[in-house]
Amino acid sequence: MYNEEMILQQAEVHDSFYLYEEAKIKLAMENLQKNFKGIRFLYSIKTNANKHVVQSVLSNGFGVDAASVAEVEMGVSHGVDKRDIQYSTPGKTRKYIEKTLECATIVADSLGEMVRIQEVAEAKGVVAEIGVRLNPDFSFYGDTGVASKFGIDEEAFFNHLDWILSLNNIKIIGLHIHIRSQELDEMRIATYYENILRLAHTVQRELGTNLAFINMGSGIGIPYEIDDTALDMQKLGGKTLDIVASFAAEFPQTQLYIETGRYVVGKSGVYVTKVLDKKVSYGTTYVVLGNTLNGFLRPSIAQLIVKYSGVANPVGSEPLYTTKNPTQIHVLKKETEMEVVTLVGNLCTATDVVATDILLPKLEEDDIVVMTNAGSYAAVLSPMQFSSQIPPKELFLQENGEVIF
Ligand SMILES: *Cc1c(COP(=O)(O)O)cnc(C)c1O
Repeated sequence: MYNEEMILQQAEVHDSFYLYEEAKIKLAMENLQKNFKGIRFLYSIKTNANKHVVQSVLSNGFGVDAASVAEVEMGVSHGVDKRDIQYSTPGKTRKYIEKTLECATIVADSLGEMVRIQEVAEAKGVVAEIGVRLNPDFSFYGDTGVASKFGIDEEAFFNHLDWILSLNNIKIIGLHIHIRSQELDEMRIATYYENILRLAHTVQRELGTNLAFINMGSGIGIPYEIDDTALDMQKLGGKTLDIVASFAAEFPQTQLYIETGRYVVGKSGVYVTKVLDKKVSYGTTYVVLGNTLNGFLRPSIAQLIVKYSGVANPVGSEPLYTTKNPTQIHVLKKETEMEVVTLVGNLCTATDVVATDILLPKLEEDDIVVMTNAGSYAAVLSPMQFSSQIPPKELFLQENGEVIF
């Protein structure tokens, strides 16, 4: 599951740290590449922008799903082709567009953004080949669209087509759709891809040209809860290839993309911290750990959301909240005596709670606690500046067994 020996070794040097395993990242990438032959993959850097993680992923054939100018620049510095750096996020300003127009494929997120891209491209005297993100008239669970801050409503796009086609310095060459992350049902994902290709047909017909690319977004989930079932990637890949076969035969020049961050690194990382103190208050045994809410936010925010929502299983709100128990908590110690404890952090706030009343091997000061599922939306989401603690290290275990940071 993870390299226990390496964790013990690193815990002698660092009080709290992330450990990402390159071998696991590569395995996840291979799992995608071998089961989805012909489809290209983009790495959603926002999930984990650690330089070694990014280097490992981008040097193994993935392109970039960039959510900022800085993420575009990471792709450029790794020599990724313009077509394989897709810059798709709401709120791109003229300045951002100017900086990325020549080195990335900008995906317009609104009609207003199209105006800005047109103006920047006109000033530069170029025709910008761009993608367009649509908010489709379907969802993962039904066949009607829902209001979203992302993309242009399908209907609005078609209603404005004459105006869009009159923008002389823009050429739409691609379609981008992404409406949901963290799905664990193969059939739902496959149906979603099917709906995208149907819409792509309409877009091509209305535009009067074939698209150079279709970015089908993400959706690919990973198991978080102990009893979640992992996606069967062979099954999902097979279904997907069946679905895209006729489209690919009809439009061989159109490149299909899937973008994912979570699947690539989510399971490759653990968070490691130590017991700082232990005390009993009115019958509750508190174990105080270092750098929890501020070092690895996910478990603490899950506690908060469950507490304040008043429902047993609140729906996910990605990427901050996925599920009630987003991590498995392990104690690295040979101890057979068990004890019910509440795990908290060392911050000066009562909301710094990792787990309430859980059964764990009896913990003492300096014991090592490991939390799984810490590769994705973990370090990047944690408020490490809060209370000026020494932040956790991010360690990268290379395939050759060497740890770097
Ligand atoms: C964040 C994001 C993704 C990645 O989602 P994962 O759940 O990490 O796979 C994909 N596409 C877009 C547009 C995103 O914003």
